[in-house]
Amino acid sequence: MTMSTQTTQTVLVTGASSGIGQGIAIAFGQQGANVIINYHSDEEEARETLKQVEQGGGKGIVCKADVGKEEDVTRMFQEAIDAFGTVDVLVSNAGIQKDNAFAEMTLEEWNKVMTTNLTGYFLCAREAIKIFDKKPTPSPEDKAKGNIIFMSSVHDIIPWAGHVNYASSKGGILMLMKSLALEVAPKKIRVNGISPGAIATDINADVWQDEEKKKELMKLIPYKRIGVPEDIAKVAVWLASPESDYITGTTIYVDGGMTLYPG
Ligand code: NAD
Repeated sequence: MTMSTQTTQTVLVTGASSGIGQGIAIAFGQQGANVIINYHSDEEEARETLKQVEQGGGKGIVCKADVGKEEDVTRMFQEAIDAFGTVDVLVSNAGIQKDNAFAEMTLEEWNKVMTTNLTGYFLCAREAIKIFDKKPTPSPEDKAKGNIIFMSSVHDIIPWAGHVNYASSKGGILMLMKSLALEVAPKKIRVNGISPGAIATDINADVWQDEEKKKELMKLIPYKRIGVPEDIAKVAVWLASPESDYITGTTIYVDGGMTLYPG
């Protein structure tokens, strides 16, 4: 995978104070990008991300916003414009799990996951598209004027008992990605998804930090390794670069072969 040496990109990454989002922000920083580091509540960790973005050669700002709240999202994109003048890449990554057996699942657990994981992606993508729309449309021979990457999950195609809200939100992201890609391709805006398998982060720490649960998880991974945020970050940088310019409406499964097993 060749990394781009193109001119400075301005990249907004949601949920960038931890895990995959933090890894992605740092990787873009290493490309010299301007990075808007969104966080929900952990400002200290967001500032740690910023420090590493700057150490890598990039610039950045931290921005507190709840991606499920329209007014927060609008303000966040305005802060991006105020700081860097535009946005070239959105990595919509913030996500949560609130697991429960289906019959016990509360409406609050359903709504919270849908609001963050699906509505949040809609709200951020809509603001990004509005900004991309202000740029002149390149000729068909030229590269994209904007890129959106949705962080989905292998559970956009693998059903997940006990996690129906989460899997439904990720399935929704898959069709959001494809439909939006189709709508905006003529304007030379690319929209793609990354679907991670098991990546060691806070979201699944209860599994990979427990030897028994980890053993069970390993049975689901043909490649016999739990992923790390860098595995995803490299793909995100490439997917936002001109090197992948002919790819839109596609999901890349970064999962050590997890999707090779039947669900
Ligand atoms: P994580 O818990 O470290 O990261 C999630 C981030 O989202 C956190 O920084 C959190 O503060 C932020 N966030 C939550 N609600 C928010 C809100 N309302 N507004 C703004 N930010 C909010 O876990 P992660 O593994 O890094 O997850 C990142 C993404 O990757 C998620 O969308 C997750 O579903 C997806 N994913 C992770 C795995 C995995 O194995 N870790 C697998 C598949 C998909």
